[in-house]
Amino acid sequence: MTRSWRVDLKSLIRTIPDFPKPGIQFRDITTLLIDGRGFAAAVDALVEMARPHGADLIAGIEARGFIFSAPVARALGAGLLPVRKPGKLPGPRIGVDYALEYGTDRLEIHEGACLPGHRVLLVDDLIATGGTALATVSLLRQAGAEVPAALFVIDLPELGGAALLKQAGVEAASLMSFE
Ligand code: AMP
Repeated sequence: MTRSWRVDLKSLIRTIPDFPKPGIQFRDITTLLIDGRGFAAAVDALVEMARPHGADLIAGIEARGFIFSAPVARALGAGLLPVRKPGKLPGPRIGVDYALEYGTDRLEIHEGACLPGHRVLLVDDLIATGGTALATVSLLRQAGAEVPAALFVIDLPELGGAALLKQAGVEAASLMSFE
């Protein structure tokens, strides 16, 4: 089922200048989420992009990635793998540290949550520099998973993240881009 042709998804994204700091054009997905047809069309389109990859698991990156990864996993009958910030997962976990503009951050999954040979697709709201997505790919590969593709609602191609993912052997696709 696909309804996406009826909805101009890009027009549902609100741009807030200078948030969270001067010079950043924040692409706000909440205006898409509150539009029932828009949200359904975005999820349907991600499902159709994901389907050919035959994923065992859909990995959603905290926090906005959860919003899209859960319905995509449900529609495909795949499992949902939450990729979390430190201090959230209760069991034994593995993690990856990655560089931010200032300082570092960390993402974690439960040990044994994904296994060697699992096909895992990454889903997030937006790719900018690609730092978050590349760190997640390396974490999933550390667990032995294959990561054939990463799907995003929004790509900011000028920041080069999608190109870096492709260099790393991960197909990157998005529903829209902002120059
Ligand atoms: P990056 O690691 O640089 O690819 O940044 C990706 C993450 O940062 C995504 O999970 C987004 O939620 C958030 N992000 C980065 N830039 C923006 C932006 N201009 N508008 C909204 N969210 C952003």
